[in-house]
Amino acid sequence: MPEYLKRPSSIQQGQVDHAEVRERVTEIIAEVRERGDAAVREYSTKFDSWSPDSFRLSAEEVRRIVADVPEQVLTDIRFVQDQVRGFAEHQRASMRDIEVETLPGVRLGQRHIPVSAVGAYVPGGRYPLTASAHMTIVTAKVAGVSRVVACTPPIRGEVPSATIAAMHLAGADEIYLLGGVQAMAALAVGTETMSSVDMIAGPGNAYVAEAKRQLFGEVGIDLFAGPTEILIVADHTADPFVVAVDLLSQAEHGPDSPAVLVATSAELGRAVHEHVERLLPGMPTNDFAGPAWRDYGEIVVVDSLAEAFTVADDYASEHVQILTENPRQALDKMTQYGALFLGEGTCVSYGDKVIGTNHVLPTKGAARYTGGLWVGKYLKTVTYQEVTDQEASARLGEICGRASRVELFEGHARSGDVRAAKYGAAELDW
Ligand code: NAD
Repeated sequence: MPEYLKRPSSIQQGQVDHAEVRERVTEIIAEVRERGDAAVREYSTKFDSWSPDSFRLSAEEVRRIVADVPEQVLTDIRFVQDQVRGFAEHQRASMRDIEVETLPGVRLGQRHIPVSAVGAYVPGGRYPLTASAHMTIVTAKVAGVSRVVACTPPIRGEVPSATIAAMHLAGADEIYLLGGVQAMAALAVGTETMSSVDMIAGPGNAYVAEAKRQLFGEVGIDLFAGPTEILIVADHTADPFVVAVDLLSQAEHGPDSPAVLVATSAELGRAVHEHVERLLPGMPTNDFAGPAWRDYGEIVVVDSLAEAFTVADDYASEHVQILTENPRQALDKMTQYGALFLGEGTCVSYGDKVIGTNHVLPTKGAARYTGGLWVGKYLKTVTYQEVTDQEASARLGEICGRASRVELFEGHARSGDVRAAKYGAAELDW
């Protein structure tokens, strides 16, 4: 049985009030739908103190912003985008169109068609999440999306220059300095100055994630990618200092970001706990990491690695880091995670910032039914069929007639009947 060395101290204390979030989001979407740009401007002013003449940046503004970004930052952005693009291209290549002959003259096919217009949301309330631009926009472009509309909020009234540069270098077709629910609603329903898109993608806080939930159906979404989570599975080979540093790397995302350690010994659990408590006060991001650890931090001690994998799977955490003697075991043992980080040589921060796998990942248990953002999320997997053999069509027609009448669908049945009669020996009796 797992033993808890540290439980979330008070789930209630730090928990977002979901009813409040739901109501607020419903109201903003309704207002943007009703009043378009005027409502967008009101909410941007209210939540981000931001009301420029135009939320969309002109090509000249983008050029000027990018020109001010230090060369090293641009070089690093290019490096990371190359990694994200390279992996996404391999993923795209793995998605082959198929056409098979299932009966003589009966051909069934499958194609992958890119969504035409995508809204790529790049969060920026607390930190300028530049890397989310690579993840959402580069991947959409590899998929072949022709119109990518990128949105990010100003950060405390400032233009997030590196993020704008990343959006531009990633190939965004339109860039808006606009955040939160008002951005998601504008993207989904359109306004006087922004044409709507077919799908919205990207991570965000609880408001942004709820906006995606409410807008789903009217537009497509990638997945629910809300406040970040980390879970680390560690055994006797793990360095407790590294474990503590890595737990805090994700807790700093926000006060509602869970950080969980599943350790195979109480000694390791206690050592990690001590390091975390010692490191926290000196962290410049303690304002977020401190409450996150207090309210959502957990240390679970289990008897065996097998139990550790079972417990970890139950969490279905967004990021799962494996710091064990043989980390690749997790590939066989675990099934519920957004992304796995195998061994001490890598870490969740590599996934977030540099390595090339996508960092937009499922949260709040969504890893039970989906993986993260990838090139396939921007592709519609569609099918087609063709029957060129009359005998085959007549046979299908007869079966279609009988099968449809079982369901009391006379109209469907007749479509089968006419082919059975025209191409075969059947007689029409209606
Ligand atoms: P954000 O861009 O998601 O949200 C900022 C916006 O929230 C603001 O523009 C504002 O309009 C809106 N807002 C703030 N308070 C509001 C209120 N009371 N009512 C209505 N709207 C309000 O940026 P953030 O807040 O920094 O959050 C980023 C989130 O993204 C973090 O929680 C982080 O963990 C998460 N994230 C998740 C993933 C993933 O893949 N799951 C990846 C990266 C980041």
